[in-house]
Amino acid sequence: MKKPREYRVDETEANYKKYLAEYKGGCPFCLTDGHTRKIVKEYKNWYITENVYPYDRYYSISHMLIPKKHLVFLWELNEEEMKEFLEIKKELASLGYEEILENLPSMKTQLHFHQHLLAY
Ligand SMILES: [Zn+2]
Repeated sequence: MKKPREYRVDETEANYKKYLAEYKGGCPFCLTDGHTRKIVKEYKNWYITENVYPYDRYYSISHMLIPKKHLVFLWELNEEEMKEFLEIKKELASLGYEEILENLPSMKTQLHFHQHLLAY
């Protein structure tokens, strides 16, 4: 089996592994009351947030685009949410992002759909 790519520096990866080991359930991407997630930019159906465990081996900016509705696959979006998603994607380069990374569900540890917004 091929080793997964290492997106994080060793210290960040260790912190992430610790988080996973202590994970008590619940979705960290659903904005429930009292969430502490820092919102970088908010839209009607989406938000951009910092990745708490950034892909810092390669990127200096490591954010995530996340739908406010809990869903696993893009095709679960309704028409309005999909339209807004496409509008956001059009403006991502102007916000300074250089790459988008979407891990398929087999790679994801969090099933709430998200795309990584990255810049070197
Ligand atoms: Zn969720």
